[in-house]
Amino acid sequence: MIRIADSVKAIRDARRELSGRVGVVPTMGALHKGHLELVRQARVDNDHVITTIFVNPTQFGPNEDLDAYPRDLDGDIARLETEGVDIVFMPNSAVMYPSGYQTYISVEQVTQGLEGEHRPGHFRGVTTVVAKLFNLTQPDTAYFGQKDAQQVVVIRRMVADLNFPLQISVVPTAREPDGLAMSSRNAYLSPEERKAAPALNRALSIAGSVYMHQTKHPRDLRQVIERQLSMESLGQVEYISIADTSTLEELETPSSKPILVSLVVRFGKTRLLDNRLLPLNLNNRAGLTKTLGSVERK
Ligand code: AMP
Repeated sequence: MIRIADSVKAIRDARRELSGRVGVVPTMGALHKGHLELVRQARVDNDHVITTIFVNPTQFGPNEDLDAYPRDLDGDIARLETEGVDIVFMPNSAVMYPSGYQTYISVEQVTQGLEGEHRPGHFRGVTTVVAKLFNLTQPDTAYFGQKDAQQVVVIRRMVADLNFPLQISVVPTAREPDGLAMSSRNAYLSPEERKAAPALNRALSIAGSVYMHQTKHPRDLRQVIERQLSMESLGQVEYISIADTSTLEELETPSSKPILVSLVVRFGKTRLLDNRLLPLNLNNRAGLTKTLGSVERK
């Protein structure tokens, strides 16, 4: 039987009863196949799995979709039970941020670009909640998706800098049959927008083959992506980033090291995010886990 914990005491008590290796999968719920890939990997690697479901208010900006964010708690619990998850931790906001709460974690450089630039305060909320979830669930390994590549880099930095005793494992992006990266937010798309949305993955694939066969110059890769996305009139490009996989600094010249290509395109009110590591053979669990946000101690 899956155990449900919704308070600090309940999760600490439940965690204490687990022995052996524990994997944790932090989520905001409305679980889809992408989330379940993380859970399955955690199941394979560990003796026990904890999934957390918490729509974290501190990572949403004032004009973002906190209230509208899709929720399906009963469906989520049923799915997690089928996957053999031991514990679901689903606190409410008052449990995570009781009155008087005033402590936040701020990772500096790697939160500045990409999502950090377009969603001010987002990563401060993410790192704060993830640190709390790590403290409450005490995992050996925590699982995060490639889909949110900058999040991986930021959390890895926090784990290294604050000496959290755990590993981060990165799971490749799960996609719909037409290539669209799975996301809880895909539910917001109109039928026309949904039809247009695979443009992100297509542009990344084309950039990947240009990188492999023609040119590694960031200027050319940006141009190829822009040209490809401009064929899709419904989508508004918010940013295209070609960055170092550890520092996330934007690249202006070709690099001999792997690079992270990320895109955000808006379809109406929906922001879609996708990315690729290049060279292409790094987009698997081992390649991603080794490359994305790898922390070198100098
Ligand atoms: P979220 O519920 O959106 O906060 O996502 C929870 C975790 O699932 C994060 O580590 C995400 O990167 C990951 N995730 C979301 N979508 C996907 C996907 N399509 N494939 C793989 N992982 C994903």
